[in-house]
Amino acid sequence: MTLGVLDVIAAKRRGERLPAEAIALVVDGYVRGDVPDYQMAAWLMAVACRGMDFDEVVALTRVYVDSGERLDLRGFDRVVDKHSTGGVGDKTTLVVAPALAALGVPVAKMSGRGLDFAGGTLDKLESIPGLRVGLDSDRIRTVLAEVGMVVVEQSARLVPADGATYALRDVTGTVESLPLIAASIMSKKIAAGTNGVVLDVKFGGGALTGDLASATELASLMIEIGAAFGLRCHAVISDMDQPLGWSAGNALEIREAVDVLRGAEVPGLTELCVTLAAEAVLLSGAETDQDRAREQVRAVLADGRARATFRRWVAAQGGDPAVVDDPRRLPATPHADLVTAGRSGWVRAVDARAIGTLALRLGAGRQVKSAPIDHAVGVTLHKRVGDRVVAGEPLAQVHHRGAGPVPVEQARAAFTIVAEEVPPAPTVHTVLRPRTAPGVATARR
Ligand code: URA
Repeated sequence: MTLGVLDVIAAKRRGERLPAEAIALVVDGYVRGDVPDYQMAAWLMAVACRGMDFDEVVALTRVYVDSGERLDLRGFDRVVDKHSTGGVGDKTTLVVAPALAALGVPVAKMSGRGLDFAGGTLDKLESIPGLRVGLDSDRIRTVLAEVGMVVVEQSARLVPADGATYALRDVTGTVESLPLIAASIMSKKIAAGTNGVVLDVKFGGGALTGDLASATELASLMIEIGAAFGLRCHAVISDMDQPLGWSAGNALEIREAVDVLRGAEVPGLTELCVTLAAEAVLLSGAETDQDRAREQVRAVLADGRARATFRRWVAAQGGDPAVVDDPRRLPATPHADLVTAGRSGWVRAVDARAIGTLALRLGAGRQVKSAPIDHAVGVTLHKRVGDRVVAGEPLAQVHHRGAGPVPVEQARAAFTIVAEEVPPAPTVHTVLRPRTAPGVATARR
């Protein structure tokens, strides 16, 4: 019997396992325009509620990948990519990619734009005057060959099935489904054609996955999907309860990344950058020992090699390289209001989602795709979890245009201050590697 779209939706609603042809019927039909939004939405909801087994997720990933083109990186060896599942203040790509390129590990990365409370690397990069992220494949190859790194926007021809499906998931409450997230992310990584990917899977209040267990499950699933397609992945599971580093906002985050490229130790951020870059060094095969990989990364951050690579890369993509030495060339707001503590005590929590939402409302992000953004606005933190604070001391600064009411109260409400001493938030970085990796321990559920 030939299955129709309705049969496939009903089968998944009953919790049945779908054969690859059934998945292709729905997804390919949707991309062609034969399957309407309401049927696709019903199928996505059935998947979100009933889940998928591993073979189904691999089949879905394959249908996604085959819906479009792949980036051709033939002739380049051991190119790595790094992907974050998204968070507030996440500027790690801006540090990790130049550190790796400076170590001779080539990085080709397709990034996304910010949506909702989480920022996007492309928006951050476009706060550098002149910098272009829409390069054709010849230019991508040239920049990669000349500088050892390239960061571009994802072409609409790469995994169009995910582009269409993601937009629908966004408005049908079906984003938070592990099989759908894993297939969506991994299809783009596979089509991007690199040899290995370091996945930064976040958990916590400011992340897609709220708890460590589901982040671990997602990371394991993505590693296994990668293995099924011959793409080697390592995953770092990192906490996203408070924003990463001191800033949330596009140009503000470029400044902070440049600080790390100058060797600054930014709490939470520098350590995560070192962990991610060291995993990429191991993944590339350039080093086999984790401690030595970490030392190499720390060395290129400390001695200016990573910063020099970043400068060359900015110029290669048309940007003003002078911002690296003079961040005053980046967009800035005319106003920056301090947010002070209403009481003395210790900071127990800084709500990443609330800070991200505040930056979004100031104009740093977009609520609908393709809306314009303001590269200058955002929030800088003065206190982090575990810090002592005295009433009246600054907790944060809101960078704004002075066009409307300044959300000082909302910023203050993002901080929870308690009377008893709180230790600094532990840095949680769990590394997962494929089971088959020789000599590497794995932690898997
Ligand atoms: N990022 C993606 O690319 N896809 C998802 O489904 C979630 C986050």
